Amino acid sequence: MTEPLISARGITRSYQAGDETITVLRDIDIDIWPGEMVAIIGASGSGKSTLMNILGCLDSPNAGTYLFRGRDVRALAPDELARLRREHFGFIFQRYQLLPDLDALANVEVPAIYSGEARGERRRRATDLLGRLGLSDRLDHRPNELSGGQQQRVSVARALMNGGEVILADEPTGALDSHSGAELIDLLRDLNARGHTIVMVTHDPAVASQARRVIEVHDGRVVSDSGGSAPETPAPVLDPPHSVSGKGLHPGAALRRLVDTFNMALNAMLTHRVRSFLTMLGIIIGIASVVLVVALGSGTQEKVLENISSLGTNTITVRAGTGFGQRDANRIETLLPSDATMIALQDYAAAVSPAVSTSASVIWRNIEATAQINGVSGDYFDVHAYVAVLGSVFDASDVAGLEQVAVIDEDTRDTFFADGIDPIGQVLLLGRVPVRVIGVVRSSGATFGPSSLNVWIPYATAMARVSGQDHLDSIGVRIADGSDMMTAQAEITALMLQRHGRKDFFLINSDTIRGTITSTTRTLTLLVAMIAVISLIVGGIGVMNIMLVSVTERTREIGVRIAIGARRSDIVRQFLIEAVLVCLVGGTLGIVGALGIGELVAGLGDTVRLNFSLTSIVAAFLSASLIGIAFGFLPARSAARLDPVVALNRE
Ligand code: ADP
Ligand code: MG
Repeated sequence: MTEPLISARGITRSYQAGDETITVLRDIDIDIWPGEMVAIIGASGSGKSTLMNILGCLDSPNAGTYLFRGRDVRALAPDELARLRREHFGFIFQRYQLLPDLDALANVEVPAIYSGEARGERRRRATDLLGRLGLSDRLDHRPNELSGGQQQRVSVARALMNGGEVILADEPTGALDSHSGAELIDLLRDLNARGHTIVMVTHDPAVASQARRVIEVHDGRVVSDSGGSAPETPAPVLDPPHSVSGKGLHPGAALRRLVDTFNMALNAMLTHRVRSFLTMLGIIIGIASVVLVVALGSGTQEKVLENISSLGTNTITVRAGTGFGQRDANRIETLLPSDATMIALQDYAAAVSPAVSTSASVIWRNIEATAQINGVSGDYFDVHAYVAVLGSVFDASDVAGLEQVAVIDEDTRDTFFADGIDPIGQVLLLGRVPVRVIGVVRSSGATFGPSSLNVWIPYATAMARVSGQDHLDSIGVRIADGSDMMTAQAEITALMLQRHGRKDFFLINSDTIRGTITSTTRTLTLLVAMIAVISLIVGGIGVMNIMLVSVTERTREIGVRIAIGARRSDIVRQFLIEAVLVCLVGGTLGIVGALGIGELVAGLGDTVRLNFSLTSIVAAFLSASLIGIAFGFLPARSAARLDPVVALNRE
């Protein structure tokens, strides 16, 4: 013996409208047996749709019990209800409710996506179903490219996709012309003959007369029922027997659903390109600025560090005065060659070079140029990492003997001596002092600051014959390998204090300069990067806004998806993946934009250097997806919380 498929007792449904309670369904009792074809008729507003939604588990009654195959649906969790809709019901709506962005085939496939069916199998079956409904040549048409009758047949195919054991049709012919309407009713009768249970709502008596059983509803009550009973013959086997496993989640299905959801999100993004691009704009700008700022920071830092590497490593410079940029440093005349001699005696000093410098005009034959005249010791070249490219540098005996010899840099050589003239042995006039060139040197680091022509002569010669001063400007000390920089610095300070009695000098250590510059640029980069991060957050909020608006805009789509069996988690996932996708594509565009700007800047020369690091790009990518997740969550949740009945009726 068969039990009723649907057994409803005392179903009551009322709505709260302000202070008033409107009771739409009152105490309805209905039993529907497998294989029946039932028409529910009644005037507009009598509660037919409300009843259908309750039967289809889209809505729940305020009172009464509803048993589906003997199971009380009120005891079912939301996901179990979704499964009931997915696996047992097929909805057909008056306004078709196809998803506008998908073609006919894809629309029919949706219920099978939610049941986790493999793509190939579901394509095959959707194609087959549409073929049987005479739509073989309309598979790739979107709903707006189909007539009403065709759209309704697509929605029938969709209802049958997961089996469609019970087909619930709410005014299925309401929007159709009489010919298409009659065709559709024939189709439903045919399906009924194959074993599908059909419940349809109509207010057209002609349509109702096609059903074997007619239930009339008036004012929320059943006023007549032509009588239902278990069919004498057992219902024929349903076709097609749907292949989806009853358990819902078999291995691989979860992953498949994820991939399918991703594809749907991609499709939605491609269909609404302008909207997606505008949504992304904030992310594009945010990511591009973060990547650029970090690249600029690290590029600048690298450039500055490269420049100071010309100061040499392991060197400490003692200068007259109390600090950089001090105005009266020139008037302090207490730094003497004897200080250099004393420092040179210490263990930690590997090489010491006193230095005086002045600028003077240099003349060779008829060529004249202004150059920096540096009075140094032979150790200077060692301390500051210069290498001789021609000839040699002077030594201590040249200093002691006040020799009039000079070492020049390559720029100076190029200024005075044309190709083919050997500079070695030539005599330059520094002011009125003649010096003989004995070597040409090249710095092994980049020069720091504006480059000028440089001529080096023994410091004793410079003091006695060129500048006439008897004090030094600075003393360069190269610290011996194995000696500690900080200790050496402290000892030099102590020694100098002891000799001078006051602090009229200061020390510059290449490491401390490097450290200061590194930390300064890092602080600046951090600051600007923070501003960029704020712009990223603003971008994320933009994404959230547009996603929230799009939830409202797509309310009906969400309602349809829930009606055909989407779980809440499917809806959440769909919106989250859309948000993440938008952010990731936006992030990628931002990174590409930043790299493009980098190329442009590189074309401008080395004035601004951008140093793109893989880390910052990966971090930008990660933050883009995090922003997508963080700011996509709220819209996704509000989408999943929509009441399907309200959503479906939203225009
Ligand atoms: P039918 O499909 O028979 O035309 P419905 O079931 O759609 O009628 O609606 C029955 C009554 O319930 C109508 O008077 C309608 O205004 C009311 N109703 C339906 N949905 C709501 C709702 N969400 N809030 C308040 N009243 C509603
Ligand atoms: Mg209605």
